[in-house]
Amino acid sequence: MPQRAILVFLDGVGIGEGDLAFNPFVVAHLPRIQALLGGRLPIAEHLDADRRIVSERAVLVAADATLGVEGLPQSGTGQTTLLTGRNGAAEYGRHFGPWVPTPLRPMLAAENLLRRAADAGRTAAFANAYPLSGAPADPRIFRRPAGPMLAAQSVGALTRGAAELAEGRAVASSITNERWREHLGSDVPEVTPEEAARTLARIAADADVTLFAHYDTDYTGHRGAMDGAVAALERVDAFVGALADALPADALLVISSDHGNVEDVRGGHTIHPVPVLAVGTRREQLMNVRSLMDVALAMLQALGIDGRGLSSDNGG
Ligand SMILES: [Zn+2]
Repeated sequence: MPQRAILVFLDGVGIGEGDLAFNPFVVAHLPRIQALLGGRLPIAEHLDADRRIVSERAVLVAADATLGVEGLPQSGTGQTTLLTGRNGAAEYGRHFGPWVPTPLRPMLAAENLLRRAADAGRTAAFANAYPLSGAPADPRIFRRPAGPMLAAQSVGALTRGAAELAEGRAVASSITNERWREHLGSDVPEVTPEEAARTLARIAADADVTLFAHYDTDYTGHRGAMDGAVAALERVDAFVGALADALPADALLVISSDHGNVEDVRGGHTIHPVPVLAVGTRREQLMNVRSLMDVALAMLQALGIDGRGLSSDNGG
């Protein structure tokens, strides 16, 4: 039984055809992810007959992100589903994004992975640094909130800002700190993806459940340029590889997404399945994940927390 779990959320990453013309996963240099997957990549051609990749170090499952709802999957409803196990798109009536629609926010706050862990007496952490201006947090950042931030807020874990980032006790959403340095005028130090990963591993070692969210993969997918998408994936590769190496021995690491996008740079979101990559203790718990609705429940079960009432019971 692991003592702890980490969910790394990557916005807008799907599993598509491995075509050199439009899929940056086959253009980028991704040695760390390939090593985790036994030489394979998160592309359709590398999935086995059960739509998985099972290697010595990892399990990768292709999870449905369409949720039985017409249209292109979106971030607000997809993140809600990933974090709660409830079908956010079905409950809202359609896919919606990029922020979490107002009617879904109470359910997200009450039923997300961090909240469920806290309700079971476990500790929860949100590793992201946010530009907070004193306490309580600046209300402007809540106007169009992303799912991970709302989940963090629901357990009082939205506590890291520039000071924590400067001290190596938080990770920037972009993994490295350039955006804080260039756009927020902050004098936080430069960090490599590997250093950011070790910071996340340290944060995770002090909590039972830790969440980190990264959004650049979706941004670069929307920009639709291969070079930007390749750079974003190579940064993620360095980060994920170092995180897997620095993982506490009792930890389960799960990396997943809300919908496809960056795996096809021809433009915008896709209906592709999303990867659910599990590394570490009890990763086999994620083996039977079939959709975004199954991830939170599988993680809670891996932690020994009764997650019943989630996922399969919600009729979605
Ligand atoms: Zn998007």
